[in-house]
Amino acid sequence: MPGFEVFGAEERKQVNDVLETGVLMRYGFDGMRNNHWKAKEFEVAFAERMQSAHCQLVSSGTSALTIALAAAGIGAGDEVIMPTFTFVASFESIMMLGAVPVLVDIDDTLTLDPAAVEAAITSKTTCVMPVHMCGSMADLDALQAICDKHDLLLLEDACQAIGGSYNGKPLGSYGDLGCFSFDYVKTITCGEGGGIITNSEKYKLNADHYQDHGHDHVGKDRGAETHPFLGYNFRISELNAAVGLAQLDKLDGILKTQQRNYTIMREALSEIEGVTFRRVPEGGVENYSFVNFFLPTQELAEKAHKALSANGVDACFYWFKNNWHYIHGWEHLRNLKSLGNLSAEIKAQMQDLNNTDFSKSDAWMGRTVSSLVKIGWSEAQVRDRAQSMASVLKDIL
Ligand SMILES: *Cc1c(COP(=O)(O)O)cnc(C)c1O
Repeated sequence: MPGFEVFGAEERKQVNDVLETGVLMRYGFDGMRNNHWKAKEFEVAFAERMQSAHCQLVSSGTSALTIALAAAGIGAGDEVIMPTFTFVASFESIMMLGAVPVLVDIDDTLTLDPAAVEAAITSKTTCVMPVHMCGSMADLDALQAICDKHDLLLLEDACQAIGGSYNGKPLGSYGDLGCFSFDYVKTITCGEGGGIITNSEKYKLNADHYQDHGHDHVGKDRGAETHPFLGYNFRISELNAAVGLAQLDKLDGILKTQQRNYTIMREALSEIEGVTFRRVPEGGVENYSFVNFFLPTQELAEKAHKALSANGVDACFYWFKNNWHYIHGWEHLRNLKSLGNLSAEIKAQMQDLNNTDFSKSDAWMGRTVSSLVKIGWSEAQVRDRAQSMASVLKDIL
């Protein structure tokens, strides 16, 4: 998955364009910038690649999620449904606005279980936030139908699945809004960065203003601009945007290499009795950033993960016992350990996460092992790796 593996002359050239003028900011300084508008250029190219009308580039994937929610008018007390398996950014971005994360089970897609989503809807629910974890997607048709029925926003977190698709549409472009991360370990990177895509002119304008202190970006004098509503600073710098431009050119090549490497590993694992794979919803195409598989039991999955590592197979993950990606590891969230006071709405409405039954999620996550798909591996290296993985797993099963 990591785009940093292919960092090279193209990224240096883009960054040098910016360094030569010294205009490190994305707005203003028209006379000095020698016509370099890296952030703007990225937004146009990314919107086109994602078959969406608009893109807003920002400082991180987490801020992209916060801005997307804010752009759609979500605030204190609004409930946002999110999965138990994701990254901490999901609840961080929601709680930042005083809104309330509602955690629900995942299914064998390792993403939101549509039945669990429907069961969690209350009069305060405003948004469903599926997270396309580890390269594959949620059942977006089912979620869209639920959102239509209850008049809810569908916000896709596509941070880990850039380049995948569903019913022929790029992941992130299916819902009302889609978010991406360009942090250093994502499929393409800006160093740090994030993006929001949408077909809504209104959400785009709201996002544009909100991420820059409410600036309306009308005219040529920043100081004279007006601020139709309160905002914040989630801007990206031109240097980071420049890196992203070079990486974006490499996206399709990265996806191709990922697919090749994924396929070699998947074919080797398919031969093993007892190994099954995460379900990809009908109409979905993964971005091939991870191979995700199930062992028959939690005990065997834990054993497999340890044995893979002991036998030199690196970059395998057992998310069930991970501090950052699964509800079990979020002791700080479960106990609402916050530096300052949380909003009254969060305190009043938050689930008692220490006593919520997530046994359905546990049943899938406990059995899941994932292998990262690196782009730097040669075909011969992946074949070696696939053989090592297969022999370790056969020994265990
Ligand atoms: C990386 C990631 C984010 C947050 O991105 P940052 O740019 O690191 O803030 C959000 N959601 C998911 C699923 C991610 O993997």
